[in-house]
Amino acid sequence: MSKKPVFQFREAPREMPARIPLALRQGGDWGELYGRFDQAEAKKQSGRCLDCGNPYCSWACPLHNYIPNWLELAREGRIDEAAALCHETNPLPEICGRVCPQDRLCEGSCTLNDGFGAVTIGAVEKYIVDRALSGGWRPDLSAVQRLGKRVAVVGAGPAGLACADRLARAGVDAVVYDRYEDIGGLLHFGIPSFKLEKSVIATRREVLEGMGVEFRLGVEIGRDLGLDALLSQYDAVFLGLGSYRYTDGGLPGQDLANVLPALPFLVQNGRVVSGLQPQGRPIAGWEDRIDVPDLRGRRVVVLGGGDTGMDCVRSAVRLGAAEVSCVYRRDEANMPGSAREVANAREEGVRFLFNRQPLALLGGDSVSGVRVAETTLGAPDARGRRRAQIVPGSESVLDADVVVIAFGFQPDPPAWLSEHGIELESDGRIRVPNKGGCKSRGAAAATTRPFQTTHPRVFAGGDGVRGADLVVTAAYEGREAAAGIVALLRE
Ligand SMILES: Cc1cc2nc3c(=O)[nH]c(=O)nc-3n(C[C@H](O)[C@H](O)[C@H](O)COP(=O)(O)OP(=O)(O)OC[C@H]3O[C@@H](n4cnc5c(N)ncnc54)[C@H](O)[C@@H]3O)c2cc1C
Ligand code: SF4
Repeated sequence: MSKKPVFQFREAPREMPARIPLALRQGGDWGELYGRFDQAEAKKQSGRCLDCGNPYCSWACPLHNYIPNWLELAREGRIDEAAALCHETNPLPEICGRVCPQDRLCEGSCTLNDGFGAVTIGAVEKYIVDRALSGGWRPDLSAVQRLGKRVAVVGAGPAGLACADRLARAGVDAVVYDRYEDIGGLLHFGIPSFKLEKSVIATRREVLEGMGVEFRLGVEIGRDLGLDALLSQYDAVFLGLGSYRYTDGGLPGQDLANVLPALPFLVQNGRVVSGLQPQGRPIAGWEDRIDVPDLRGRRVVVLGGGDTGMDCVRSAVRLGAAEVSCVYRRDEANMPGSAREVANAREEGVRFLFNRQPLALLGGDSVSGVRVAETTLGAPDARGRRRAQIVPGSESVLDADVVVIAFGFQPDPPAWLSEHGIELESDGRIRVPNKGGCKSRGAAAATTRPFQTTHPRVFAGGDGVRGADLVVTAAYEGREAAAGIVALLRE
């Protein structure tokens, strides 16, 4: 075992894996932007870790991954052991390595982030797990004792997949249902391939099937099969339904031709890039079929500054738009999108218009412009984000041939939840009195299992419970819900 150079964090600067050249991206290359470290690079970058006694990186990770421990294994070249340790806390580590906003989570909290450059935690995580899986490593379930219980998981997004993984490790038969024809939820039908190539999800599906997880795809619960049928066939049910009602902003002119909601825009593009037919039936609850117009040579304006907005602007670049602008009502410091993604978008030629509030979409049959007003930032709102206030007399019009609205998503709970006594919060999120950890206090939390709904045999997690959020938080909730289910089944 090689001794770790003490000052590697100074001698070797922080480096990310090489990226696809800009000209290719602008020319329509949809491949994953960041490449992979080779062994020497991975050892060098993981060797920069200080192995802090109190690892802030792990605390900032919602899954509390054993980051310094697997960085050290990677430095020593013990890849299979590192992969096994990554999986101890994270059911989807190669996916989190790719799509987590590390700059806001583990890397943002890394001790070295203050002056030296944070350890490239996400890129090393991706290297470890990709390399182990391609070398044939698989989770070892040989010592698992079967519990003789069956659980239905509704939704094959990160929450459902994480839950199924933990159930399989606990010896429970997990059967995952999804209305789509493949697994992944928004990982597959939402996040573009330049952030997450679809072959990564195919490998994860093969891993889960190898662990005994069964997928029944193209089945919509509530339409093709009822919750009552699941409750009669299974010992418990997990709901990882996601959060799909889009926030339209109520702008005048939003029904004009060539005004598109973000998700169907991304889903249709994603399907075409993956060689699938564009979706013929409604997309994830979206009522109308969306035909994405040809963006070549056109001016595209994206409204919204979150991760979805960043995916839309960068997709528009790859689709050949002549000019791509992102309009956001606050300043750059208050933007919800990952700073890394903003930097990538800017490099790809996207123009950012901060402190602009969209007021109306203009045009005849088809959109031709967006009326915006300038803003300043006022007092913080209930969530602590400073409110955007319109500057009187600052209105102007941005020319646009296509406008994509990316204002975020709200839960859209199906009616069959309440028919089965599953209560909702006032904003439509599924009510879960006990969210695990120290956040859950009070009588209701004390008498329920983590992530148990108000139906005793139904558990829930992910965006359907917390509202639109992140892959890593969905994975956390799926993982913790599985622990709650197993505790119930063992009673
Ligand atoms: C465009 C976009 C980009 C994003 N980028 C990032 C990112 O870079 N990093 C990050 O961390 N997060 C990102 N997110 C957020 C992240 O994708 C979500 O937080 C995460 O996928 C939520 O996981 P989930 O399992 O709760 O739901 P989902 O991923 O939405 O999965 C829910 C699944 O349930 C299925 N389903 C729902 N109802 C039924 C039913 N009745 N019957 C059968 N199946 C059903 C759906 O088809 C879907 O497959 C992004 C989100 C979007 C929209
Ligand atoms: S905070 Fe940074 S340096 Fe410290 S243990 Fe975590 S990755 Fe290593």
